[in-house]
Amino acid sequence: EVRVRFAPSPTGPLHIGGVRTALYNFLLAKKTGGKMILRIEDTDQNRFVPGAEDYIRESLEWCGIELDESPWVGGPYAPYRQSERKPMYMQYAMQLIESGHAYYAFDTAEELEEMRERLKAAKVATPQYNAITRMTMKNSLTLPEDEVKRRLESGDPYVIRLKVPRKEEVRLKDLIRGWVMVHSSAIDDKVLMKSDGMPTYHLANIVDDHLMQITHVIRGEEWLPSAPLHVLLYRYLGWEDTMPEFAHLPLLLKPDGNGKLSKRDGDKLGFPVFPLRWEDPFSGEISSGYREAGYIPEAFINFLAFLGWNPGTQQEIFSMEELANEFTIERIGKSGTRFDIQKARWFNEQYLRAKPDAELAGYLLMALEEHGITCSSEKAEKIAGLMKERVSFPQEFWREAAYFFVAPTEYSEKVASKKWNSQAVAVFTDFRNELSTLSDFNADTVKDLLVSILERHGMKIGMVMQALRLAVTGAEAGPDLMQIIEVIGREETQNRIDAAIS
Ligand code: GLU
Repeated sequence: EVRVRFAPSPTGPLHIGGVRTALYNFLLAKKTGGKMILRIEDTDQNRFVPGAEDYIRESLEWCGIELDESPWVGGPYAPYRQSERKPMYMQYAMQLIESGHAYYAFDTAEELEEMRERLKAAKVATPQYNAITRMTMKNSLTLPEDEVKRRLESGDPYVIRLKVPRKEEVRLKDLIRGWVMVHSSAIDDKVLMKSDGMPTYHLANIVDDHLMQITHVIRGEEWLPSAPLHVLLYRYLGWEDTMPEFAHLPLLLKPDGNGKLSKRDGDKLGFPVFPLRWEDPFSGEISSGYREAGYIPEAFINFLAFLGWNPGTQQEIFSMEELANEFTIERIGKSGTRFDIQKARWFNEQYLRAKPDAELAGYLLMALEEHGITCSSEKAEKIAGLMKERVSFPQEFWREAAYFFVAPTEYSEKVASKKWNSQAVAVFTDFRNELSTLSDFNADTVKDLLVSILERHGMKIGMVMQALRLAVTGAEAGPDLMQIIEVIGREETQNRIDAAIS
């Protein structure tokens, strides 16, 4: 059985890259009938941000990414929050010490700093605590065994480090990038257990993936450099046979392709990078979210799915169900994907248009209620149907269609001065008066009336249409004017023409 996990750290709001990672995990689970697990990786308590976990939960719910096991619904491998699993990790660190793959290190902050300075002075490109430098540290692997014991007993602070071999080729097969080879000299002796008794990300992540029987690790490319270290951990813990498969997702790039899209890009680039609005609990700074911007979750998901994956066909519109059916890791690209907000908007338009008018009317009715305007659902539905090709977001139903309810007070100078000539005004006047004669008032009869009046005046419809639209709606563009007039009604249309030409 496929078991995948999404393992966010509650260090801030989930950004769209994170949502995409969660989505791809979810799609694989759904496709294969496997399980989707969410694990909160909160071992770094210095970086804990209040509200971040709730935010993650709410975001995934909004997106329709369902979890089979999580801190919130539980599951057979509970608890799913690493801070609550704290007592479980030490035994694995001890196992590594006993097998000679890890060691206690009592180095002080000053000693570590001294080491870095020394390496820098010697022009070492990336100063590391590793197979070579550990032998220069007098408070770690070089200590005699009984001295280590004495220090532990007297309660000296220590960390436990992984003993990375000096010369070894570490290989791993990534499902997206193929074979990745790293020489062990490039891997440092990572801390596995911190002095506060908390495991680091690396140890906790491997232990939990093993205990939770994870089969596939799908995560961002920024974790690729850690993967060889993880392979060593699996090996030394004796779990290499059941090591999960790895798939490191390509980066999401800024729209200009210049570098990775980051959380800090926030609204600087003119679009949200978070699924939901986020208020930073420390600074109070507010970042906008896709939900509040009017994105439909299904459109947002469809858009995200295509940021790094494609089905290999022309089809672009996919429901979650269809995405799951089509999804394969093999079709995830190797190179970074540029972020394109126009495409997100396009998806939103497609999803909006596909909705029944009655549902779209709901958006309009909600806004109308806020503005204290009453409107029958029948009328709202008609307006929604007329407007839906012209809006990208639900809130635009009100913004773009307000003239159905509120008479214009201003008219664009440009159009008014050019088109409201005496000839047009003569036509409007007749039109306004003769509207009263129609026994049946609808778009067709109104149009016939206008055409016959124009004929009488020896004019063509194109000569007055834009001016009439401006007079009735105050807007320069919109859906079919005759339909608008039908909805606005006879008297209101007459009043508006009067106001415009007076
Ligand atoms: N806690 C890590 C993160 O915040 C998880 C990385 C992984 O999936 O292994 O991204």
